[in-house]
Amino acid sequence: MGGFRLGSVLGFEIRIDYSWFIIFFLILWTFSFGVFPAVLPDLDAAVYFAMGLTGTLLFFASLLAHELSHSVVARRRDIPVEGITLFVFGGMAHTRMEAESPGDEFVIAGVGPLASLGIAVLFGAIGILAGAAGWPLPIAVVAQYLAFVNLALAVFNLLPGFPLDGGRLFRAAAWKYTGSLRKATRWASNGGKVLGYVLIALGLLQFFGGALLGGLWFVFIGWFVRTVAQAGFRQHVLRESLEGVKVKDLMAPEPVAVPGDTNLDEFVQQFIMDGRHRAYPVVGDQGVTGLVTLDRVRKAPRDEWSQRTVADIMKPRDDVEVASPDQPMTEILDRFGGAEGGRILVIQDGELLGIITRSDLSRWIERSEMLESS
Ligand SMILES: [Zn+2]
Repeated sequence: MGGFRLGSVLGFEIRIDYSWFIIFFLILWTFSFGVFPAVLPDLDAAVYFAMGLTGTLLFFASLLAHELSHSVVARRRDIPVEGITLFVFGGMAHTRMEAESPGDEFVIAGVGPLASLGIAVLFGAIGILAGAAGWPLPIAVVAQYLAFVNLALAVFNLLPGFPLDGGRLFRAAAWKYTGSLRKATRWASNGGKVLGYVLIALGLLQFFGGALLGGLWFVFIGWFVRTVAQAGFRQHVLRESLEGVKVKDLMAPEPVAVPGDTNLDEFVQQFIMDGRHRAYPVVGDQGVTGLVTLDRVRKAPRDEWSQRTVADIMKPRDDVEVASPDQPMTEILDRFGGAEGGRILVIQDGELLGIITRSDLSRWIERSEMLESS
């Protein structure tokens, strides 16, 4: 899913995924039309909306603070954090690598629920102060709800299933106890899968008991937890098996490249139809200039193929995913998703040395797994 950059806080890039708007409006709606009118009847609709909007924005600020706490502690422990994304199920801090010791993992995971607990206490105190100082009632009510929501967030995150913080705490403990990160990850992922199914079951019970929306949310969250738990384990095994492998070990060397002035007719004939690939690096006098894919050709009107060149339609070099030959594979793993045509070009000193595709990667993993299981 796509998204946009919101800005940066403490040096961390903050992004909003478009799916975030779903939960933003859902919470805004629940606050403005459900919760606040029920707690404080007979107020103006505009007041409820103002309360709802304030509450929703502060809720997202709280989520962000939770993720920032993970990020700050990770950075302190020399684990680089690329940024934070807020999406439909909350927030996620992206790290390029995993913790290297159970102690680091424990502290990085544990600080999140602590932060949410701290925020809950803060809003609780504001609520009590507002009541004591005789501030308008809506302020006290919004503060109380934020205290409650943050407390719920802290408790939910402590559930012992990966990818929740509680699952990471559990994994750190199991890692320390067994000495095997893989075993610990498997246990925590299984915990996450069980937790996911429990949430789905609870959601279905609620749904058929009449709480339609609440029930559906439980089902969604349960499904999400289950899926991420499973993907997280695979991702982990992948990272582990790629430990020590460099980009040059996996790349296809001396890739076929297309001269930039080739017109699309020729390109389709000689490279797409007669060639073996669906995407090719484009070269000019100064070396690599971009990447051209079958998809891009398809988007160009067919009657213009004879007049247009691959340089006209290619993805320019600056936007293409690029790696250097001595880079560790684990560093570029996350970039295949965003790479056009699933391809990363391997370039050194401006010279095209090779190309890595997602299928090269899967083939490599498949073979290393076959070797391991024999
Ligand atoms: Zn967390």
